[in-house]
Amino acid sequence: MKIQEIVSKQKDFFKTQQTKNIKFRKMYLEKLRDLIIENENLLYEAIQKDFGKSKFDTFTTEISFVLNDIKYYLKNLKSLSKPKKVNTNLVNQIGTSRIHQEPLGNILVIGAWNYPYQLSLSPIVAALAAGNCCVLKPSEIAENTMKIMVKIINENFPPEYVYAYEGGIEETTELLKLKFDKIFFTGSTKVGKIVYKAAAENLTSVTLELGGKSPAIITKEANLEVAAKRIVWGKFLNAGQTCVAPDYLLVEESIQEQFLEMLRKYIQEFNYTSDSDYYTRIINQKNFERLIKLINKDKIYFGGTSDNEKLYIEPTILTNINWDDEVMQEEIFGPILPIISFTNFNIILNEILEHEKPLAAYLFTNNSEEKENFTQKLSFGGGCINDVVMHLGNDNLPFGGVGNSGIGNYHGKFGFETFSHQKAVLERTTWGEPNIKYPPYSDKKLNWIKKFL
Ligand code: NAD
Repeated sequence: MKIQEIVSKQKDFFKTQQTKNIKFRKMYLEKLRDLIIENENLLYEAIQKDFGKSKFDTFTTEISFVLNDIKYYLKNLKSLSKPKKVNTNLVNQIGTSRIHQEPLGNILVIGAWNYPYQLSLSPIVAALAAGNCCVLKPSEIAENTMKIMVKIINENFPPEYVYAYEGGIEETTELLKLKFDKIFFTGSTKVGKIVYKAAAENLTSVTLELGGKSPAIITKEANLEVAAKRIVWGKFLNAGQTCVAPDYLLVEESIQEQFLEMLRKYIQEFNYTSDSDYYTRIINQKNFERLIKLINKDKIYFGGTSDNEKLYIEPTILTNINWDDEVMQEEIFGPILPIISFTNFNIILNEILEHEKPLAAYLFTNNSEEKENFTQKLSFGGGCINDVVMHLGNDNLPFGGVGNSGIGNYHGKFGFETFSHQKAVLERTTWGEPNIKYPPYSDKKLNWIKKFL
C-alpha cells in the first residue's frame, strides 16, 4: 500500500471514533508494551549493530523510558481524558464550563537516531494514549533500529491505526507533503525549519524537539567531586550523542585546576577505552570525521585519541577555549568537552544570553543567589541544578526546547496534552438569563453593561 493511501485510511479510521474509546487505547498500549518485552533482545541486538550501544544503556535510557511511559498512561488515562471543570464567569451564568481533551487525528512522528527507540516510541505512546492514529518515520541513520521498529509495528498493528514508514530524506519529504493534524519532529534545528515550513502549508501544528549548545556552569561554591562525577557520566553517555548532554563547561577560574583533575579521574575510573563493551561508538564515518576536526590538538587537556575502524573517539577535554573557537560554533554531539573559564558569575550568564537559547542548562553550586540568578536570567528548555540530564527522567516535568532548541514539549501529562486539542465547552441552562445583551440597545442598557463587565 502506498503511504498516501495509508494516511488516507488513517483519516477514515479516525472518523469511526474507535480510537476515542479508552479500552481501545489501553488494549493497544498493552500490546505495544508486550511486544517491546517479547522483542527486547532483538532491540538490543539492532542498536548494538548500529552504534555499539550497550544493553545497560539501551535499557536505562530507552526501553525503560518507553515502558514507563506506557505504564504512566495505562494508570492515568482515565483521569487525563476526563473533561476538566473550570469556573464559569459572571456573564455566562447560569452555566458550567469544561475543557475536553480531544484527540487531534492523524499524527506524523519523525524520529532521530541517537536514542532511536525512546525518541520514536515515546511520542507514539503519548499520541496513542491521547486517542490518535499515527505514522512513524524513524531515523534511517540508525538503520537496524529503524528496521526492527518497522517490523514490530507493521506486523502487529493495523496500518489504518499505526504504521511505521521506512526511509530517509526522500521519504520524509514525501510525507511532509501530506496533510497531518500534527507533526512531532525530533532532530536538528536545520531540519526542524524544513519541517516547520512544510507544516505551515497545511496549517499543521508542530512540536519540534531540537538541539543546541547546552552549557554547564561550575562555580567555586559547588561540590566539585559530585559535579565532576555527574558531568563525566552525562557528557560521555552515548559517547556525547545526547541532545541534553552538557555541550561545554564554564568553570570558575579559581577551581579549574582542581576540577580538571577530578574530571580526568572519573573518565579514567569509568574506563571508556576503545575495547570497552559499554562505551558507545560514533554513529557513522561522516560524524566521526566532523568530530575529529573539532579536536584542536593544541588545546587537549585529556584524551584526543581515536580509532577510525571502530568509530571510537576517546573522551576528550579541551581547555583554554573561548567563544570564537571552532568547537563553540555548533552543537558538538560527541565526546568532546570544551572548557571556558570565568571569573565573574553574572558576566558569564550574560555571555550565555548572547547565544541561542539552549535545550538544557546546568548549574553546579550550593550558593542560593547563584541558583536564583541562573534560573531567573537564563532561558533554556529545561535543566538541573547540581546534576545533568536527569530532569528528563521525571515525567512530572515537561520536556522540550525554547527558541532555537524547539517548540512545545511532552512527557507525562504534557505529552497527552501535546497530542490533544483543548476543546472549550460552555453549557448554559435554558432559564435565568437577563435580557440586557439583546437588542434593541439603549444608553441605559450600555450603562448597565459597563457596570456589569
Ligand atoms: P536530523 O535533523 O538530521 O534528522 C532527524 C530526522 O529528520 C530523521 O528522521 C531524518 O530522516 C529526517 N531528515 C533529515 N534531513 C531531512 C531533510 N532534509 N528533509 C526532511 N527530513 C529530513 O537529526 P539527527 O541527526 O537524527 O539528530 C541529531 C539532532 O537532533 C541534534 O541536533 C540533537 O540535539 C537533536 N535531538 C534533539 C532531541 C530532543 O529531544 N530535543 C533529541 C535527540 C536529538
